[in-house]
Amino acid sequence: MAHRQFDLITLGTGAALPARGRFPTAQLLIVHGEHYLIDCGEGTQERLRTAGAPFNRIGHIFISHLHGDHYLGLMGLISSMHLMGRTRELHVHGPKPLKEIIEVQLRASQTYLRYPLTFHPTEPVSGTVAWHDSRVRVSLLALRHRIPCTGFLFEESMAPRPLIKAKLL
Ligand SMILES: [Zn+2]
Repeated sequence: MAHRQFDLITLGTGAALPARGRFPTAQLLIVHGEHYLIDCGEGTQERLRTAGAPFNRIGHIFISHLHGDHYLGLMGLISSMHLMGRTRELHVHGPKPLKEIIEVQLRASQTYLRYPLTFHPTEPVSGTVAWHDSRVRVSLLALRHRIPCTGFLFEESMAPRPLIKAKLL
């Protein structure tokens, strides 16, 4: 299947408490076949399975803030990726305390991830570039909330077009 340039799959839109038929917050952005996960509420891995989105396609997870409905599914997903034998590096972007939250859980279960996990702390400062690759540029947006909170602005990277030598005069 040919992917459009940007595809956004809403996996959950729920608020703090569980509600029938809604799921905690998570969105999957697909850009030229690469998957970017934005927030990871409880049960996100089940939602990804339902959507038919392979975990291994996810290279980056962006967490907006540390209210549970936006990230309590993260450890489950990190752990499943480990059990499924992932070797591909995973980048997690989120507020600074998230690093310790991840580490303490891995330490307590004596889990040594089979894949590299790189943590990128975010600060709610609009315009900061959080990530840039050949597909996207992700900048942060400071959002007003009770605790530090960032939005993520995804823009397509201008990839260099291939030069076709036969067309050169
Ligand atoms: Zn919140």
